Amino acid sequence: MKIEDFPVDIQSYLIPQHRGPLCYRCLGCGRQHGIEKLLYTCPDCSQVLLIDDQNFQHLKKIPGEVWRRIFDYRKMLNIPALKGVYLYHELIGPAIPLSSIVYLGEGHTPVIEANPFLQEKAGGRFFFKNDGQNPSASFKDRGMASAMSYINFLIQTGKIPGALAICASTGDTSAAAALYASFLTHTVKSAVLLPHNKVTPQQLSQPLGSGAAVFEIPGVFDDCMKIVEYLSDRYNVALLNSKNAWRILGQESYSYEIAQAFEYDMRHKVIVVPIGNAGNITAVLSGFLKFLEIGAIGTLPKIIGVQSEHANPVYRYYLEPDAEKRKFIPVTVRPSVAQAAMIGNPVSMPRVIHLVEKYNHRAGQKKVFFVEVTEQDIMDWHILANRNGHISCTHGGESLAGLVVARKSALLEKDDVAILDATAHALKFSGFQQMYFENNFPKEFGIIPNPKFMNAPCLIHPKDPAHVATPGKPLPKDLFHEFVKQVSREIAGALDLKTAQKK
Ligand SMILES: *Cc1c(COP(=O)(O)O)cnc(C)c1O
Ligand SMILES: [Zn+2]
Repeated sequence: MKIEDFPVDIQSYLIPQHRGPLCYRCLGCGRQHGIEKLLYTCPDCSQVLLIDDQNFQHLKKIPGEVWRRIFDYRKMLNIPALKGVYLYHELIGPAIPLSSIVYLGEGHTPVIEANPFLQEKAGGRFFFKNDGQNPSASFKDRGMASAMSYINFLIQTGKIPGALAICASTGDTSAAAALYASFLTHTVKSAVLLPHNKVTPQQLSQPLGSGAAVFEIPGVFDDCMKIVEYLSDRYNVALLNSKNAWRILGQESYSYEIAQAFEYDMRHKVIVVPIGNAGNITAVLSGFLKFLEIGAIGTLPKIIGVQSEHANPVYRYYLEPDAEKRKFIPVTVRPSVAQAAMIGNPVSMPRVIHLVEKYNHRAGQKKVFFVEVTEQDIMDWHILANRNGHISCTHGGESLAGLVVARKSALLEKDDVAILDATAHALKFSGFQQMYFENNFPKEFGIIPNPKFMNAPCLIHPKDPAHVATPGKPLPKDLFHEFVKQVSREIAGALDLKTAQKK
């Protein structure tokens, strides 16, 4: 739709005018730093940062009702830079001009209601938000669009000549980083560090296909992260892990989209997210808080963070009810089917602690909860969800398993509606599905498949080799007819088909 065709009072808001300015804010010492340089941690005290809008107060002058109309109408605008996460430009990166925005089709992922059977099994109404339908098939694209647009902005304004984007990854960050870097390939190169044998073949193929330099390192993600931190401290590289606060900004779009999809009514809504490095839950909390502050929503939804028993440092931290007594202790992870969340020392923990407190305070009651799930439940719910029309990966299964635990623990009210983060596409993690179907999980996982859910292809092959074509040697007509007949009979027998009445 063209600008002149929108309601007159909205026209002037359609192209975002607000410019921040933005600054980094340290969660340790509270100091602020300018964004002309790419910082990951505070130069004064080494703590992690968040990005603040110094003129956020201005945004509050626009009534919530108007914001809702701006975001709803802006969806109809055909400007690529505003089609993805920057639909919420004023909140996500007002310092970034539209001409620097890298848009590859991220964001605005579908929200799919579960069928009645699955809802009953899970104990109530719920939806999956399919973030696997992002361009590199995980939610990481949201943050990467934001971080890469910022780097592109630094290059276009001559602040840096180019960049070598580098990240450690459990698989999906590297896929996203390599994809967005490849779009800017003439100025941005990328290098990714992966724990050897701890990402799936599909995830490994992604950065390779995008032309990134791929390094496999012995150990787990936490080890790769240490190396990337060492490199970014000493060399001129752009770190693209969620330690980079620009990633968080982009990922806030997940919250804005949920609010918009539910007509901005967050009463009786529960958002369920799996936690690994804790960048995602940081962004989800921050997003809803900002939407509340500008009046786009009137209530904060409940948030449930889920961790596997095999990688549960955040869950353990919050087991202690007394905030004063809580102490963060990193854990050594064990193998998990929620492989992208297999992180024992989450980089964003200080952000989570800060935002959970703020969130509960603003809500006037405890609204953020953490639950732990078994590997068995992750796998069973993942398989069951996909047998009922979904495309969730193991982490989507983790969200669903977490919802069930949360319901059992009475964290939800009867008419609460849950929105589950299906963080990546099922295809990325199909190897775990295969282990389930073939019942060959390594012992450490402790997973025994439910025979009812197992599935395998069935090879149908005529017994007489004369009835089977070979490459370059098609069957003569009568033998081919015999082949079709025999195979059809076997399939009909296997499916127990009844003969139909001839019309
Ligand atoms: C990265 C990732 C997670 C964990 O998100 P964090 O921000 O690291 O907590 C969960 N699921 C998938 C599929 C991921 O790629
Ligand atoms: Zn500091």
